[in-house]
Formats: sequence, C-alpha cells, structure tokens
Amino acid sequence: MGATSPETGRQALLRALPSIDELLLHEQVAPLGAAVARPLLVEACRSAVQHARDQILLGQTEPFDPRSVSRFLEALARPNLRPVINATGVVLHTNLGRAPLAERAVARIAEIARGYCNLELDLDEGERGSRYAHVVELLCALTGAEAALVVNNCAAATLLTLGALAQGREVIVSRGELVEIGGGFRIPDVMRQSGCALVEVGTTNRTRVGDYEAALTANTGLLLKVHQSNFAVVGFTEAPTTAALVALGRARGVPVFEDLGSGALLSLHGEGLTSEPTVRSVVEAGADVVAFSGDKLLGGPQAGLLVGRREAIERLAKHPLNRALRIDKLTVAALEATLEHYRDGEADTAIPTRAMLTTPAPVLQARAQVLAAALTAARLQCRVVATVSKVGGGSMPLAEPPSFAVALMGVAAVEVHDALRAGAPAIVARICDDELWFDVRCLTEADCHVVASRVAAVVRGAPC
Ligand SMILES: *Cc1c(COP(=O)(O)O)cnc(C)c1O
Repeated sequence: MGATSPETGRQALLRALPSIDELLLHEQVAPLGAAVARPLLVEACRSAVQHARDQILLGQTEPFDPRSVSRFLEALARPNLRPVINATGVVLHTNLGRAPLAERAVARIAEIARGYCNLELDLDEGERGSRYAHVVELLCALTGAEAALVVNNCAAATLLTLGALAQGREVIVSRGELVEIGGGFRIPDVMRQSGCALVEVGTTNRTRVGDYEAALTANTGLLLKVHQSNFAVVGFTEAPTTAALVALGRARGVPVFEDLGSGALLSLHGEGLTSEPTVRSVVEAGADVVAFSGDKLLGGPQAGLLVGRREAIERLAKHPLNRALRIDKLTVAALEATLEHYRDGEADTAIPTRAMLTTPAPVLQARAQVLAAALTAARLQCRVVATVSKVGGGSMPLAEPPSFAVALMGVAAVEVHDALRAGAPAIVARICDDELWFDVRCLTEADCHVVASRVAAVVRGAPC
C-alpha cells in the first residue's frame, strides 16, 4: 500500500474513535467509575471523545488516548468557584473575592449554616426579632452612631439611601466626586435609577460649601459626599469637610449622606499606607447616613453597612427596596464574628486584611526568602526583589506599602503564569518586566511551599 492521503488518515482516525459504551469499559477508564458517579464519568468520556474529534478535524494525527478521560473527569469534578493563592500583592483584590475572612467568621458561618438559628427570633421574649439586631449594637458601639442597618453591598446601600431619602428630589454632589466605582457602578447612573435629579456643583478639583449653598432649592432632598475611593485628585484641590456640609444641611433642613466606600472602622497604621477617614469620624461630624462596604478595609463579608442618625436609618429600614437588598444569615454570622474582633481590640491580628496591610517589611522579606529557598531547593533560578503592594478594592489608591517579591528567572513568564492560574490550587501572580513576580504579602508560609512545588511542576512540564 502507498502512503495514505491526509484525508484518508483523518477518516481513519475519526472511525477509530470509540463509542461511549466501549470507552466506559476500557481498562484505563472503567476503574475511574469506582470513585465518581456514573453520569459524571459518562460526561467525561463524551468530552474526551468530542475533544479528540475536534483535534483530528484541526489536523491532529495522534490516535485517541483513553487516558485523557481522567483529565476531563478532573475538570468536571472540580468546582467552578475554587480557592486561589494571591501572589499579586493586591490585598483587596475584587476579582479574587476581596477580603479573606477571619477564622472566627469562617467557623461562625459553618456553625450557623449547618442548622437552624435565631435569625429573626428574639430568644428571650419568644417573639419575632430583627435579623439586623445581631449586629446593630456592635456597629453603633464601634462607630458612635445612633442606628445601623446592613444591606447586600455598598452599592445597594447607596441605592437605598438615595431612593429612600431623595426620590423625586434633587441631590447635590461635587463634580470631583462623580465617580465610577468599578463594575459599571457610576454615581450619576445610580442617581437616575433612584429617581433623583443630580445637581453637580463646583469643578473637578475644587468645590466649596458655597457651591452647595448656591445650588440649594426647595426641592433639594440630600447633600451627597462620595469618597473618591479608587482615584485621587492631587495638587490644587479643595473639598468641604463633612462637618461643613452638615452645618449647611442643618441650617437648611437637608440631610447629608456620605458614601464612604472602603470605610475604615479603625484607623490603619502601616508603612506606606495613606490615611482614611474612619467611619466614627464621619459619624461624629454629623452625617445623617454613612455607607461603607463590609469586605473592603473592614475585612468582613460582602455587605453594605449603613450607620447614622436614628430617624434617617429608620426611613431606610422601612423602604420597600430594603427587603430586596437584605442580607442573609451567613452574612450576619460572618459580620458579627468580624465585628467582635474590633470590639475586643484584636482587629489587627485576627482580621486577615488588616494583618496583611500592616505586615512590617522585614517580615515580608523573611517570607520572600522562604519562598526563594523553596524554589532554589527545587533547582529553579530566582531572586528576592523589593517592591510595593497595593491596597486594592478602590481603597487608598495612592498607598504603596513596601513589600518583597520573588522573581522567577529564566522561564517564559506568561506561559508559566497561564499554567499556574489554570492548575490546582490556582496561583495568580504578577508579570513585571517580562518576569513572573510573586509578591508575598498575601501568602502564608504554607502557601510559599505550595507555590514552589507548583512552579517546579509547571516548569518541568509535569502534570499538576
Ligand atoms: C467600593 C465602593 C462602593 C461599592 O461598594 P460595594 O460594596 O462593592 O458594592 C460604593 N461607593 C464607594 C465610594 C466605594 O468605594
């Protein structure tokens, strides 16, 4: 017989593909059925054969390998949402889920999730209770506010406040604060959605109390102050303090709402960090309502916290939108446990985000050396480099806390990074000048060893 044409070869390969029933009985495949449910194995066989068919049509000349089923099975059995090792140095990384929770918060979620709880039952009185009651007292004590409410996230908190306090009325805000937070959350759009008329005052860099005063009308519903969160205006700038807006609002009978965003419950002192107004300072300045996120600097679960004056918070609580934005029991559980750490004065050690943001540079350097030693032991070339981390999550955009990273040398950075991201556990690092850098700020020492062994496996081309 002469040489077969590519077309005949392709037809032969396609004909040789096994049926799903044959494949299920194959000696490389059948044993996999011992550990997984049959429908999953069938699905893996289908995917493996389909993939092989697609490859053959694209010109692949290797015959089908039944061992590939296990690879598809692994991918199918793996949850879509899974842990990631964060070697980016961005602490509140929104794409990576923002704040990792304190151990106590994790344990509380597990305990509450497993069974029933007193979410809306007052156990002392045997009467219906409020889901917010579990955290209101702590929030008031920690911020000095008269009242508090919690909704799904800070975007929801803003939407609710605008809708409840200023629907059909004008809201005055500085041109320097018409921000887009990320994920398409733009203050002007939220205003429209809430049925409020946006009244812009001042300029991008300078706005004075007099600008708000001149814009006040009988139809003004709210004075709004928005934390710039993810950007900064530097240089020739001016913005009124919350206290100055409150004085104006009180004189004219208009409430003041501050969207504080990242919201530090306590001031945060660490090298390279910038100062953030604490929630308490804004409450003390007299804002009627202050909104901030649960999973940014606070370091708790995703939530939108609202604190302020009793009358204003009660209006929010009674608004129909509040029911649609309410938090679930797992959020209440995690939030209460997180707030307890603040109450007990152990926030900087017990809450991971605060601990990571305040880790001193020498500790980070020692951790980078641990990672470098593990990589070196695996015969990989690397060096420890000084760098800066980022706070992330739209917080402290100018902060550059000094950190240390390990730069991997002599490898194709992008390819190795792709493989690390796609494997298990997934690792996300940073490409810097065509090198792969692992910032150690958000790594535990155990993570360092996992990173080293996964890098070694990837670079050697071993399956992992
Ligand atoms: C981050 C942020 C928000 C949105 O908070 P989420 O909790 O992500 O919904 C709103 N306003 C400001 C100023 C922010 O920084």
